[in-house]
Amino acid sequence: MSGKSKKRGGLRFWLALWAAKLSVPALKLTGHAATNFPGKVAMKLCPGFLSYMAHPETVIAVTGTNGKTTVANLLLDTLEASGKRVCGNRESSNMYSGVTSALLSSVSVFNKCRVDAEVIEVDEHATRLILPDMDPDLLIVTNLFRDSLMRNAHAEFVASRLDKNIPKGLRLLLNADDLISSGLAPENPRAYFGIEKLDTDVTECVNRINDVRVCPKCAGRMEFEYRRYHHIGRAKCVDCGFASPDYDYSAKVDKSTGTMTIRDASGAGTYRLLSDAIYDMYNLVSVVGALRQLGMSHEDIGAALSKVKIAGIRRDETTIGGVRVINQLAKDKNSIGCSRVFDYIHSQPGKKELLLMMNSLLDEGHWSENVCWYYDCDYEFLADPSVTHVVCAGPRYKDMKLRLLLAGVPEERISLERDELRASELLYMEPGTDVYLLYGTDTTDTMLQVREHLADLKK
Ligand SMILES: [Zn+2]
Repeated sequence: MSGKSKKRGGLRFWLALWAAKLSVPALKLTGHAATNFPGKVAMKLCPGFLSYMAHPETVIAVTGTNGKTTVANLLLDTLEASGKRVCGNRESSNMYSGVTSALLSSVSVFNKCRVDAEVIEVDEHATRLILPDMDPDLLIVTNLFRDSLMRNAHAEFVASRLDKNIPKGLRLLLNADDLISSGLAPENPRAYFGIEKLDTDVTECVNRINDVRVCPKCAGRMEFEYRRYHHIGRAKCVDCGFASPDYDYSAKVDKSTGTMTIRDASGAGTYRLLSDAIYDMYNLVSVVGALRQLGMSHEDIGAALSKVKIAGIRRDETTIGGVRVINQLAKDKNSIGCSRVFDYIHSQPGKKELLLMMNSLLDEGHWSENVCWYYDCDYEFLADPSVTHVVCAGPRYKDMKLRLLLAGVPEERISLERDELRASELLYMEPGTDVYLLYGTDTTDTMLQVREHLADLKK
């Protein structure tokens, strides 16, 4: 297989390719992690490097505010389980240099492509450079929400930038239940996925953030047939008739069997749910929709998915001293991601106890965002009586307590300790109450240490 490239590379490209490839073993020999550095070398020596690089027949890009890592990794795993050789940016960043670093191993030193498919996760703002250079066959947009204020912008601004950056003719797979991203690049060919009405749906927004308060076309009043959370659901403008698009991949969830049946124009397949969280249901239907777009049958997709160990789900559980301990990523600085996790925990049966340790790298030379995102996040879910105890840890532990108090969590249910390990000792760890360790993208290692510490204490 030789692969396709957009442009023919000159001397600069060959030098960049060899230098970047050589930097990988060089970094390893000197004990450095080869994350984005090789990509930076390639970009420096040859701007537009990805457009000269050979790519396989199948290239899928995934962007959006939430779920893009899970979707991209699941696609890689499923394609691999179906016998394809794949490459993607699992380990490196979703910016140009990270994607370049990740894809270096997919070509030989003679720029011959060695894989059957590439799946890349792309930061919404990095689409501007990556999409034209990579020329993917399919772009999946999971959703668009308000995100970290320090590193991102309002969802409508992000949508307007994506509109400008999506190359003409690029096939899109969009979320019909998201009124913001479903309207992207209206001239481009597209298919829509969505989830049919659930018994937990509402019509009024109970969340602090609602990014679609009026009709995006005429600023008229929107009426929701059903609403899942924030602006996600099916709606219609009472003034101009603007409405959510119809589903091409329509998912019907059966919680009693833990399955989802996905129907499209040429068939249907029943799939085991990744988890009972709604965001994982969206992840699953977008993955199946993308594989159907590639021409895979429901049977083949189901068979491949059944072989995949779901590592994309950022949740794991164990039992310590007879207590169920669940560690769950609650993406800090992203109020919607965190709200989804709080909502999920509050809706789980039984009593729960929480250790909050998000946004914790204030002291270690890392930046720490201001805490305004706490006030966009639905801490109110934690005021539920089933949440019996919340321990706040990390440099922002006092800010976290203030937010919990404002959300209506009684003070006697809140404990404070800046040091995460000592904070874990404050957990009651009572059998029958589930313990959730909520960590952020910067505090994965801290969470692992805390879990080990809890296990040591119970020995
Ligand atoms: Zn309207």
